[in-house]
Amino acid sequence: MRLFGTQEVRENELYIGGMSVSELKKQFGTPLYVMDVAHMKAQSKLIKESFSHPSISTGVMYASKAFLNLAMVKFIQDQDYLIEVVSEGELYTVEQAGYPLQNVFFHGNAKTAAELDYAFRSRVGTIIIDNHQEFVMLKAQHPGGFVQRVMVRLNPLIESETHEYIQTTMNDSKFGVYAYDESTLTLVQSIQKDHRFAFVGIHSHIGSQIVNPNTFYAQVESMMGIVRDYADKGISIQEVNLGGGFGVAYTEADHEVELAVVLPNMLKTIALFCEEHQLTIPKVYIEPARSIVANAGTTLYTVHSTKTTPSGKQFCFVDGSMADHIRTVLYQATYDAVVANRATDPVNTTYTIGGRACESGDIIVRSVKLATPQAGDLIAVSTTGAYHYSMASNYNRFTKPAVVFVENGKGKVVVKRETLDDLLRNDVK
Ligand code: PLP
Repeated sequence: MRLFGTQEVRENELYIGGMSVSELKKQFGTPLYVMDVAHMKAQSKLIKESFSHPSISTGVMYASKAFLNLAMVKFIQDQDYLIEVVSEGELYTVEQAGYPLQNVFFHGNAKTAAELDYAFRSRVGTIIIDNHQEFVMLKAQHPGGFVQRVMVRLNPLIESETHEYIQTTMNDSKFGVYAYDESTLTLVQSIQKDHRFAFVGIHSHIGSQIVNPNTFYAQVESMMGIVRDYADKGISIQEVNLGGGFGVAYTEADHEVELAVVLPNMLKTIALFCEEHQLTIPKVYIEPARSIVANAGTTLYTVHSTKTTPSGKQFCFVDGSMADHIRTVLYQATYDAVVANRATDPVNTTYTIGGRACESGDIIVRSVKLATPQAGDLIAVSTTGAYHYSMASNYNRFTKPAVVFVENGKGKVVVKRETLDDLLRNDVK
C-alpha cells in the first residue's frame, strides 16, 4: 500500500500521525475514521502556495461537503481558507463553529426558501445562483437593508474523464445555466439592475476526481472566453470561481493531479489571456476538497472472518460496511488496504473486503492482495478522508464510526461514535 502523509511502518505495524493502529483501536475502537492532521495542513498549504500569481488576486475555499464537522471548520479557519457550503446543515455547522459567515459561499442547485432565508439572515458572504427560478426566489426573499454578493453558476460544457455521477458540466448536467445561452445574459443583466444584489462574477465546477490537467486548462480557457464575451457586451466580470475537482491517487496504479504544476499553469493562462485581450484581471477562486482531505483519511476496521465461496472467491469480512464506506458501491471506486498490524508481512492472496450489511453489493475493497487476514487483525483502508464520513448512513441501523484527528502521537475524538440511543433520537413511539 502506498503510504501518504505521516503514515509509516514501524516494527511491522502501521502508524498514522505517530500513533500505532493497535493503540488507535485500543483508545477509540473500530471502525474508525482516522484523519492525519499534518497531511491536511501540508495539502492546504501546497494548494494555497501553488494558487498564487504576482498579478492575480486569488481566493481558496474548502468545499465542505467532502468532510465537515466543528473541528474541521476550526482547522479550515486556521488555514485561512474560505468555505463553500451547499445546505443549511453545512451552513449551520460552519456558523456553530464560529466561522465568519462573510467568508462563506453558498452553492446548491435547488436551495430551499428556508435555506435562502437562513443565508440572508446570517449574512452569508456570497450566494452562487444556480438558475433563473432561484433568482426569482432571491428577489422575493431579500429582506432589504444590505447588498447581497452573488455569482452565477455556468455550465461551460467541458467534458471530464471521471465517473458520470461526478461529472457536472456535460450536456444534460443538472448544475448551473448554459454559459452560451441568451437567457443567461438576460439573467445577469437583471441581477445587475437590482440594487439589492451585487453581481460579482461567474462560477463553474467541472466535476470531481479529474486527473487530466488539460480538462482544467480547457475550463480556464472557456471561462476566460466568457469573461471576454461579457466585457464586449459591457458587463464586467470581477470574479471567476473555477470550483474544485483535483483528482487524487486511491491506489498505487492511480495518477493524481500535480497541484504544484497545474494550479500555477491555470493562473498563468488567465494572466496571458487578460493581457492578450486587454481585460482587467478578475479575482480567481478555486474550491478544492478531495485534494485536501482524501489522502489524509484512513479507515480502520477489525477483521471478523474470512470465507472462500464455491467459485474460489476469497472474502475478508470486517466490522464496517457500505454504511461507512459507500464510494466502492456508488462509483465503483478502487482502494488500497493492508493488514495494518502486520504491515510488512508478504501479501499472498487476493481478497474482497466485504462489509456486514445485508446487501450482496456491500463491498469495501473489490480486490486487494493481503497477508492472510486472521480474525482480530486490523485492516487499514487508505484515502478515505473525502466523501466517506460525510456520506455515511445508518443503513441496517449501524451506528456511525467515530472520527479521530491524529497528530504528533496523539489522537483526539472530533466526532463521537454513535450510540444505539442516537439511532432512536428522532423515533416517536
Ligand atoms: N465545488 C463544487 C461546487 C462541488 O460540487 C464540489 C464537489 O463536488 C467541489 C467544489 C469539490 O470538489 P473536489 O472534492 O473534487 O475538489
